[in-house]
Parts: sequence; C-alpha cells; structure tokens
Amino acid sequence: MPEAALPAPRSKIQTAFRLAQDHGTCRLCGAGEGQRAIGPESYAGSGQELRRCGRCAAVYLAPDFQPAALEAFYAEQYRRLFPSETPWRSEERFFAWRGDRAVARMRLARIAALLSPQTRVFEVGSGFGAFLEALAKAGVTHLQASEPDIANRSCLIGDIRVAFCAGLSAVPPASLDVIVAFHVLEHLPAPRTFMTEALTALKPGGRAFIEVPNLMSGLRTADYVHPAHLTYFTPQTLSRLARAAGFRPLFCGPHPDGGPLADNIWLELERPEAPAPPMGVEAAPQAEIDALDTRLERVDWETALHRNWRRWAKAVAVRLLGTGAVGEWQRWRQWRRLRQAGWAEHHAVS
Ligand SMILES: [Zn+2]
Repeated sequence: MPEAALPAPRSKIQTAFRLAQDHGTCRLCGAGEGQRAIGPESYAGSGQELRRCGRCAAVYLAPDFQPAALEAFYAEQYRRLFPSETPWRSEERFFAWRGDRAVARMRLARIAALLSPQTRVFEVGSGFGAFLEALAKAGVTHLQASEPDIANRSCLIGDIRVAFCAGLSAVPPASLDVIVAFHVLEHLPAPRTFMTEALTALKPGGRAFIEVPNLMSGLRTADYVHPAHLTYFTPQTLSRLARAAGFRPLFCGPHPDGGPLADNIWLELERPEAPAPPMGVEAAPQAEIDALDTRLERVDWETALHRNWRRWAKAVAVRLLGTGAVGEWQRWRQWRRLRQAGWAEHHAVS
C-alpha cells in the first residue's frame, strides 16, 4: 500500500469525483502487498492514482469512485472529457468519421465462422449498435445486449430486433453461444465478476470475444490514463484474469487486424465442457513485472499535471464552443489520420 497521501483537490471539476475508501488492494487479484504507486491521474484530476500490483502485474486506478459518483461521472463529466463521443448535427458524418461500421466489419470477420441464424449472441456494452447491425446483416437473429446509454443505443440498429437487458447476470445460465465485449472490461470496477458471469452465461463450448486497450503498445503519455478506464490490461494480465474464472484462452495478444485497432488486445475464450472451479488470479513472473515497470517509468507522470497546455486548451474550447463542435473537430482529425495511414477505404458509410 503506498504511503503517500493522495493529492488535494485542485479544481472545481474534481469535487465531482467523490472517491470511495482506499482499501489498497489490487483490482484483479485482491493482494494488499506490493501495490506500487506509479503516478497521479492527471487527465481529469480525479484524485486517483495509477498503481501496479507486485503479485499479478495488474495496472489500475485507485481508489474507486463511490458508486453514485461513478454514475454521475458518466452522466455529467464523461462527454465533457471526451467530446468526440457525442453525436452532433449529422449522424451520418459522425459515424463515418468515427469508423464504427468499418471496425464492426473487421471484428465480425474474426467470429463469422461461428455464426448461423440460430447462434445466440450477447453483446455487453453495445454502444451505438454498429456490431449488432453487422451481426443482423450476417443473418444472426437471436440478439441480446446490454448498454446503459439508452438514448443512443439504437442509433445504428434501426428496426433490428435486439433484446436489451441489464447485463449477463440477467440471462439464464448456459444459454448463450457467443458473448462479445468490446472496450467494456477496462471500464468495470470488478472485471473478475464480469468473467465469472460470462462463463456462467455461456453454453459448454461457447466462446467469448473481448477487446480492450493494450497498455504495452498504447501507453505513450500520462493522458493515456483517465478515470473512465479503471484497469490497464496487458495480454498477460487479461489472460490470467480469464483463466482464473475457468475459461480456456484460445488467443490473447496484440490485435491481429492492426490498423485502427493496433493498440488493442484481442482475446478469444472458450468455456470448457467442465470448467475448473474459479481460482485466484495467478502470480506474474518477476521478469514480466520488471518489463512492465520499465514501460511505466518511461512516462513523465508528475510534471504532466503542470505542463499539458493541450488539456487546458481543450477545456477552454469546450466551454466556448460546446462539446459538439469540439468533438466534430476531434473526429475529423482522427479520420484524417486514418486516411493518411491508408485506412480511408474502411471508412465508407455502408
Ligand atoms: Zn494483483
């Protein structure tokens, strides 16, 4: 447990981040010893800090928000911190520049061989619905999903029939063939619970496909860390988490598609016919922890708080122009970057 006190509140926005009691335990394995403080979360100034577990090599933010504060964060702060996530004016342009449908087609190609009209698929955190739309186009008719953003979750699914529910715990055990969760796990306060619920909801032999940001390739500056992402996975820590729940990992590594998905991990899991009972998350080899520390130490955590003028400029722009216009500008820049990298052809609106 780090000895240093957490930094004092620095701004008005921070008063919205009400933090829960700091238990000093690892988010993935629960260990209390060897939790190293890496640096403060400076993107939003939440008062949290990034920690690295000396037992299982997990990297995570701590302490948690209070449950009500986490809800308030997504309702009030999230879109101000990430203006590019909010549709503005032309929805068609919004999705074309973000590339939702193009990315959905890339992901679908990875699981298409498993699909038939009878396949029962559940998408956790379906966002605007691009992947559900792709599944329906591929002929899948049994579609279930969870997505807390009720206002936007039907943007791309039109009149496709999707049974929305609260989450995997709401479906009968052993009832699903496929579970997908793209950019969900890193947001969850309890990723172990997610893995256990996914294993329970799958039929024997069922598959889960998970995509999360890859710390080992994506972390370049302190801005990589922000309060929406509570865990920062490596292929090793993600795979360990899945095995602890009883899954058999079939693939876990840097995203095989590269391109716009290059800085992510792709994980494919199978529920064994007779899964082993859940166990603790395994310990990591010391060499892995050392390599992780080297990666983390390359980032300038402390001074990022004081000198990142871009963060300040964005806050001013959001205040003056609104999240809509700032988000549009960010999406255009992202689209331009992808076009320059030769990915523009994947960004046509279908
Ligand atoms: Zn741990």
